[in-house]
Amino acid sequence: MLVVGLTGGIGSGKTTVANGFSALGVSVIDTDQLARELVEPGQPALDEIIAVFGKDCIARDGQLKRACIRQQIYSDAGLKSQLEAILHPKIRQRIKTLLAELRETYCIVAIPLLLETRQTDLVDRILVVDTAEKEQLTRVAARDSLSDNTIMAIMQSQADRNTRLQAADDIIVNDGDLESLAERILELHTYYMEIAYDH
Ligand code: ADP
Repeated sequence: MLVVGLTGGIGSGKTTVANGFSALGVSVIDTDQLARELVEPGQPALDEIIAVFGKDCIARDGQLKRACIRQQIYSDAGLKSQLEAILHPKIRQRIKTLLAELRETYCIVAIPLLLETRQTDLVDRILVVDTAEKEQLTRVAARDSLSDNTIMAIMQSQADRNTRLQAADDIIVNDGDLESLAERILELHTYYMEIAYDH
């Protein structure tokens, strides 16, 4: 099975692209989703997070207050590393388990921090969604209730555009409308089906 790692900066369009492949019947492993499942009440990772961030970051219904965590890690690099040390090995293990269960010609693994967390060994090809930084900012501001400063801080904590483009095997330039994005996804889907047979 050919494993394509999908990555890109915040607001570049990864989720939109992942949904596009999914709509074509492609299996998509979404690591953001895996991360959310890992911190559900009753999961071991949640207890580890409480030990670091305190009980104040847990809502009354037992769910993690993600905004509270986000705010703390962007002002404290040490806390960010601690959170990553809890989550990343568990996410990595979960990806491996899910990949081992799949019986497909090819699949997509959406990993926002594919390059930053050095997980490229999990995938055969790297597909980067590329969008101008200004556009990322506009899209995230419209989607989330985050200040421009917070969005820029997130962007700065991620790999820069050139680093991503250099690492890419395939690129989706997401600077047009949703229709041209869908066309590009279909084009890549056809290509991946072709090369997966030789894989
Ligand atoms: P990411 O998952 O990389 O953070 P999303 O896929 O959530 O990015 O896209 C960010 C926002 O921009 C979403 O609201 C999405 O609907 C919108 N968006 C993405 N690509 C396009 C596009 N080509 N045209 C218009 N809106 C887009």
